[in-house]
Amino acid sequence: VTATYLFNSDGLEVLARYVAPDTLFAFDLDGTLAPIVEDYTAVRVTSPIRATLTRLVNLAKVAVITGRSRKDAEKILGFEPHLLIGNHGAEWPFDLSWQNSYLAETCLKWSEGLHVMLDDVQGVEIEFKGASLSLHYRKAVNQEYALAQIDTAIGKLCPMPRTIAGKLVVNVLPMEVATKGVALVAAMKELKLHRAIFIGDDVTDEEVFQLKNIDVFGIHVGKDNNTAAKYYLKKQSALLGLINSMVGILESYSVYKSAIK
Ligand SMILES: [Mg+2]
Repeated sequence: VTATYLFNSDGLEVLARYVAPDTLFAFDLDGTLAPIVEDYTAVRVTSPIRATLTRLVNLAKVAVITGRSRKDAEKILGFEPHLLIGNHGAEWPFDLSWQNSYLAETCLKWSEGLHVMLDDVQGVEIEFKGASLSLHYRKAVNQEYALAQIDTAIGKLCPMPRTIAGKLVVNVLPMEVATKGVALVAAMKELKLHRAIFIGDDVTDEEVFQLKNIDVFGIHVGKDNNTAAKYYLKKQSALLGLINSMVGILESYSVYKSAIK
């Protein structure tokens, strides 16, 4: 089954049914709320997106589920969602146990080992994020070589990690951590909502798109023949229009509500 373009009449009709005050609006960050740029530390949510998300936060519950650490994501977002979940689903605002736990120690140990093994591979950057690591190779001149070296190095790690490939990045996580699918279900439970819209662009987001028995309207950013999402946006820049139209529908709800009071 391939994804359908969201902005056709069928897609918009289904979307309109999901856009309601009791729906969770959940988003990935990199490549979704913010465009991917050459330097991963330079990523920012643009001010028009930030402005429309700030309106959305006042109309419905909003969650951001990102591979970044929460601290890092807070700076990039520039607005406060109801829930910000970091490290691919492992890092929650009210559960700080990971910080001083086995997970962080494991990641630190892996990070040290990877630094030694990948030290002389050009263009590889190792990002330590507390409960997970990201190995970036976007800046490598020979990306194929860099990825092969990364894979070899990861293969030597102990304990064996879980790896999730992304766009010119390999994410390394302890086997025990919760990932995005688990995180979305937990976020819905936490916010007492039975329906969600989730928008994401990468491999880690597929876990959400593949959820069964959960009412999630999945939208993939970019056309991708391998996504489990039912709908897609052609590119990241189309997101602003989408969120604006969702805000418009929700605002008409609140006008209706105040009219019947
Ligand atoms: Mg992404």
